[in-house]
Amino acid sequence: MIVSENLEKVRLKIDQACRRANRRPEEIRVIAVTKYVSDERALAVLEAGIHDLGENRDDGFLNKWEKIGERATWHFIGTLQSRKVKKVIDKVDYIHSLDRLSLAKEIDKRAEHPVKCFVQVNVSGEETKHGLRAGDVVSFIEQLEAYKNIIVVGLMTMAPYTDDTEWIRDIFKRVRALQQTVKEKKFLHAPCTELSMGMSNDFEIAIEEGATFIRLGTALVGKEF
Ligand SMILES: *Cc1c(COP(=O)(O)O)cnc(C)c1O
Repeated sequence: MIVSENLEKVRLKIDQACRRANRRPEEIRVIAVTKYVSDERALAVLEAGIHDLGENRDDGFLNKWEKIGERATWHFIGTLQSRKVKKVIDKVDYIHSLDRLSLAKEIDKRAEHPVKCFVQVNVSGEETKHGLRAGDVVSFIEQLEAYKNIIVVGLMTMAPYTDDTEWIRDIFKRVRALQQTVKEKKFLHAPCTELSMGMSNDFEIAIEEGATFIRLGTALVGKEF
């Protein structure tokens, strides 16, 4: 119940943001972030019609995967330690947190087929956040060509947690500009057509600024623990 009610509200906001930005709601893929909720709540997400689920830790991801498995498309959205890659790689569909060559190397080695990855970018310069600095993104992606099992589908970012919406908007604009730069290079291993940005408190701004994947936890599934 709670999920379908929340989804109705979220859909309305997505529609309104799309209208403001002259976009179509079908361009926006909603990932339900289930890290703070039970398996039951995650299953309710599927029943409500959302099939993309996101988890940010390997143990939480594996627990949910045991219960839900291939009924969902799985997004790994958190920091991934290289030594955990082996445990999750054949179960994830997208990795949103590629931020270093050592991780790319491990993914490349352990994966049995190419894996769709987002390169995580940190343009705000917040020390606490992972991700590459803007100036390092293009050369990093160039180097990924060496890893046959990595496909760079897009860029991902997390905006600072702040009420300063213009700051958030500026960050999203900068990441979108970077994504366009990479896309225009037409790298075979890095089509970079997607933008994973926007969470519960800033997804409308992210949509206005070009997000194609939004990652919603509290606004969509609530918080049980
Ligand atoms: C937890 C998390 C989210 C969802 O957060 P909410 O604010 O609850 O929507 C999105 N992206 C990442 C990387 C997260 O860790």
